[in-house]
Amino acid sequence: MSKMKKILVAGGAGYIGSACAEYLIGLGYEVTVFDSLATGHRDAVDKRAQFIHGDLADRDFTIAALKKLKPDGIMHFAAFSLVGESMKDPGKYFRNNIGAGINLLDGAVAAGTSRFVFSSTCATYGEPDKIPIVETEKQRPINAYGESKLMFEKALHWYSLIHGIKYSALRYFNAAGATENFGEDHRPETHLVPLVLKCAGGGIPSIKVFGDDYPTKDGTCIRDYIHILDLAQAHELALHSEESSAYNLGSGNGYSVMEIIETARKVTGRKINVEVVGRRPGDPPMLVGSSALAKKKLGWKPRFENIAAIVESAWKWTQKFPGGYKD
Ligand code: UDP
Repeated sequence: MSKMKKILVAGGAGYIGSACAEYLIGLGYEVTVFDSLATGHRDAVDKRAQFIHGDLADRDFTIAALKKLKPDGIMHFAAFSLVGESMKDPGKYFRNNIGAGINLLDGAVAAGTSRFVFSSTCATYGEPDKIPIVETEKQRPINAYGESKLMFEKALHWYSLIHGIKYSALRYFNAAGATENFGEDHRPETHLVPLVLKCAGGGIPSIKVFGDDYPTKDGTCIRDYIHILDLAQAHELALHSEESSAYNLGSGNGYSVMEIIETARKVTGRKINVEVVGRRPGDPPMLVGSSALAKKKLGWKPRFENIAAIVESAWKWTQKFPGGYKD
């Protein structure tokens, strides 16, 4: 683990941040979660972590907290992440995902923290020319969410040049699955896997499929689903990277919306009704990533290569925590 010991996990009460905090603690790191609980949950903060209840938008508070803690590394998960919402309220995304994130970066500078791992996204690519997507693909987002993440990646580049912060921008494809303790609970939920499982559990009568007229094999959008524990592994590896760079994190396999529904039917043994509706603005037809660079440079070895295993882990969590987190 070298000198890296104290890690600040901004957004550690959220879906991916909570699993990552748990993973880091399991490896012996001292973890402090910083979260506003705007979309995260108190119960999603690992009990072994220190917790700071704060909003990155509060610049003075953020910088003071960072100066006091002096973390060796920062992982930044604290962002809004809904494509659909970003196309209705772009300001919310630019203010939080860029403005508030800059406060965290300035806090890192003030605290002398030199390692920064950022949750970026494949949405920064927009509609790629080539599949699977490699990191050198042009970044031309087609939604405000992707643009906000791309702008933050650009800010990181300048903080690295000017302040010497070493960063990894991890461009996730579709995060999915759960650990034994932490899973996906957005309110309202808009993501495909948890909604399909909600339908399997009887919580909603049907799953709406956003468009079946895309240029894909069955007409529904194709995504690359990656387990949150595999994302956590990549974050820990990235903490130690000597290079500032961006990496795709995906499985390299694409599944259509209909294939995810079919997988969930098999995994749960339940009926899942489908209702095809219109397209959702901002959705590219196909996003599948090549993660060869992360494997080569970070030594990343994803363990969940099977979509059924990913969906099954989410289903187990859903059954263990019916209705999601209590608090
Ligand atoms: N999707 C859908 N119905 C839903 C939610 C999502 O058809 O109720 C589709 C969505 O249009 C996209 C894919 O499922 O093609 C994955 O969407 P999600 O919101 O889970 O993740 P995103 O790709 O937007 O990050």
